[in-house]
Amino acid sequence: MNRDTKIIHAGAEPDPSTGAVSTPIFQTSTYAQSAPNEHKGYDYSRAGNPTRTALETALAALENGRHALAFGSGVAATDAVIKLLKPGDEVIAASDMYGGTYRLFSKVWEGFGIKFIYTDTTNIENVEKLVSANTKLIWAESPTNPLMNITDIAAVAQVARKANALLCVDNTFASPYLQNPLDLGADIVMHSVTKYLGGHSDVVMGALMMNSEELREKLFFIQKSCGAIPGPMDCFLVLRGIRTLHVRMQRHCENGRKVAEYLRSHDKVKKVFWCGFEDFPGYEIAKKQMRDFGAMISFELKDESMEAVRKVLTSVRVFTLAESLGGVESLANHPATMTHASVPREERIKNGLSDSLIRLSVGIEDAEDLIEDLKQAID
Ligand SMILES: *Cc1c(COP(=O)(O)O)cnc(C)c1O
Repeated sequence: MNRDTKIIHAGAEPDPSTGAVSTPIFQTSTYAQSAPNEHKGYDYSRAGNPTRTALETALAALENGRHALAFGSGVAATDAVIKLLKPGDEVIAASDMYGGTYRLFSKVWEGFGIKFIYTDTTNIENVEKLVSANTKLIWAESPTNPLMNITDIAAVAQVARKANALLCVDNTFASPYLQNPLDLGADIVMHSVTKYLGGHSDVVMGALMMNSEELREKLFFIQKSCGAIPGPMDCFLVLRGIRTLHVRMQRHCENGRKVAEYLRSHDKVKKVFWCGFEDFPGYEIAKKQMRDFGAMISFELKDESMEAVRKVLTSVRVFTLAESLGGVESLANHPATMTHASVPREERIKNGLSDSLIRLSVGIEDAEDLIEDLKQAID
């Protein structure tokens, strides 16, 4: 089945009891049993719920994975992956990844004796050099938030395999429509479903996709035992959201290109970070492992003063100044004080994330209106 057909049909079996074509919201915490432990596959909704099952089936199919597990948020999904580890284990992680992942690793899990080593994963030799006998997990993100750095997923997967470590890829920015890390050798794919999968800025959710039965068992045990599950209503909303993933992503990519090119041509703009520019450092790898380049764009103004940044962010009218991304509406964000405020300034600057960087999530409005809006905000 081709991808676009899968997006519509994966996990969408008509409800066996009524024939309902749209998966019902099974708003129930528990299920009647005919005798102790005799039931129809569901006993308690923390362990399983039919709306969540339908969603997990769809999510697995979208990543070409055999299994998927849904969590209450993206960070809850990340948290579940770290729970596979034990004190003394080491994780090699991308130094410029999502700020909330950095916070979870450094402020929560370090305290439990897991060691995190941060490096620029765009340079595979860096990763290779840091591997030790204790390396149990490599955590990559590509493109990264917010600098759009591209990591060669197939190459890191080889390093992980040689080290006997797992590779987990945060695929939030690309969405499963543009990139499928399991096909490139990753063991686990993580998504903040909140973003492109949900697609409408109305749900917070996370997911993990994997092929290995053993990993699925372990992560399902963690999902059930730790309990960070999404509710049935949220599962329904995401099922509804993903049915248009392909058409949304096509427009996101078209608009992304137009906005990126416009910004690059603007004489007040110093630098534009978008992985679809042929001279962007990760372009060749992005072209190899992604189907298109997406609609996440960051840029810096030539005037790096906070006043200039503030003026743009408070003048936009079609774009909304807000955290998050991947919804149908365009958003603008100031990573240094918003999404990445939890990363120490020194670290941020070292990674190339300046105080004046502005990040855009380009939505699916009319591209001319978006460009017009940026024009009046920047001029
Ligand atoms: C938003 C985001 C997360 C965290 O997901 P939540 O759903 O907000 O918990 C993780 N990684 C990336 C790249 C993100 O953009």
